[in-house]
Amino acid sequence: MTDVELIDTILRVKKDKNALILAHYYQDESIQLCADFVGDSYGLSIKAMNSNADIIVFAGVHFMAETAKILNPTKKIVVPDLETGCSLAASCEYDRFKKMKEMHPNHVVVTYINCSAEIKSLSDVICTSSNAEKIINSIPENREILFAPDKNLGKYLEKKTGRRMLLWDGVCIVHESFSFNKLVEIINENPGIKIVAHPESNADVLELATFIGSTTEMINFVVDSPDDKFIIATEIGVIHDLKKKAPHKLLIPAPAYEENSCACSECAYMKVNTLKKLYDCLLNESPVIDVTPELIESARWPIDKMIKITENEI
Ligand code: SF4
Repeated sequence: MTDVELIDTILRVKKDKNALILAHYYQDESIQLCADFVGDSYGLSIKAMNSNADIIVFAGVHFMAETAKILNPTKKIVVPDLETGCSLAASCEYDRFKKMKEMHPNHVVVTYINCSAEIKSLSDVICTSSNAEKIINSIPENREILFAPDKNLGKYLEKKTGRRMLLWDGVCIVHESFSFNKLVEIINENPGIKIVAHPESNADVLELATFIGSTTEMINFVVDSPDDKFIIATEIGVIHDLKKKAPHKLLIPAPAYEENSCACSECAYMKVNTLKKLYDCLLNESPVIDVTPELIESARWPIDKMIKITENEI
């Protein structure tokens, strides 16, 4: 089958099965075309939580589908591939993190949503890049904070909120790889070009940025801006959505160091998913995301706390 035929078939099977397909902005364009909703971690979590579909197909990486299961535990959640990891989530192993938490028993533990369910269960509150500043500001000033796993996001939040935090030493291999020198070259070749960046990027890249925010916030900024030339410092998949919403603007993906395997801003974990795997998992309703009821219970409340703070309910 061609991609076009496969997309048509997926849309038909999706309707027959009353399935909801959720896709992260970093997925391939063909997968995004099949989705009912394309979004970032926070948006996808909320869609999964409120879904009445009979089955949710989650095209993203493992921790995202796991979060969807925690938020909607009675729902069958399937993924195109169970092996979609994340460098940030992998950097934060349960035993090491538990030990760190035990060494700092009075710290409030704030973890970025890019972590396993086990790490979420050790947390006091979860955050995403769209609400992290609000979450940090909600913590009383006399309390110390342990922030994990992304140290770049942590440093950015320290600067924004004026709070010093104990930071876990994890990074996203995609955002960590942007080349400052190559960015400066592009700026020199394109006078007036603006950089929009995700806060998982290095501090030197963030220094160059006109706007820093979550993926959705970056998209909205580019679409609403009167400027027409942008360097996009996040995963390259976001360009698909941006091209639809701002077709006449020049969008240049931020380049990575030469040493990076492809010298591009592509997340190899996200790209493990393919259109064919999406079709197979929808058709076979497998592989299924499984989380024990005990883990769901212990990982759920710090996520609920995040949602309440974000929605101004606390
Ligand atoms: S882009 Fe970075 S944070 Fe997102 S899934 Fe890939 S490795 Fe993880």
